[in-house]
Amino acid sequence: MFPLALVAAVVAVFALRRRAANGTTVAPEASASAGSSSSDAVTWNPAWGTPNTWDAKYPGRDVTRPIPYDPAHLDPTFRTKLDATFAVLRSQGWDPKVFEGARSQQRQAWLWGEGRPDFPVYGRTGTYKTKTLDASSHGSDGARATDVISASQAWKNMDFFYALGAAAKAQGLTWGGDWPGIRDYTHVELRR
Ligand SMILES: [Zn+2]
Repeated sequence: MFPLALVAAVVAVFALRRRAANGTTVAPEASASAGSSSSDAVTWNPAWGTPNTWDAKYPGRDVTRPIPYDPAHLDPTFRTKLDATFAVLRSQGWDPKVFEGARSQQRQAWLWGEGRPDFPVYGRTGTYKTKTLDASSHGSDGARATDVISASQAWKNMDFFYALGAAAKAQGLTWGGDWPGIRDYTHVELRR
């Protein structure tokens, strides 16, 4: 009696969990116009944290992709330092490109879920993508962080990221490649 009932219960729990994951309402790519909204409302899970400015601006957007990059999303001081960082990199022959600037809390929750299978809705196997569930640096009203890659080489050339780190730090920015534990070589941030 015990083993069969236990197996049935475990199977049922996993079936429910899978349905929850697959049943997430995520709208198709929002149209290019800023602020466009989806007809599908997202059911917010409290475990994801608190929605930020970008959740409100891009409701129901596909969380697997960054929201469209717009320098106007950035904190003005951070933007000035980022522009200076890019100018130095270009003078060295690199081709920096912002992969992701502002980030919704829902996308942060999706990133957090990878490698954390027990996390509600977005939990899945894989390697850690982020060391924080808090999107605050990417997510405040004026984002103070961006993830930068090479336009031509994307994530492939570590020398690009070392150059990025040096140029960003010369502007007083914090570089994710210096973090202990989970490093983020693409990440540059203005710490307050
Ligand atoms: Zn980042």
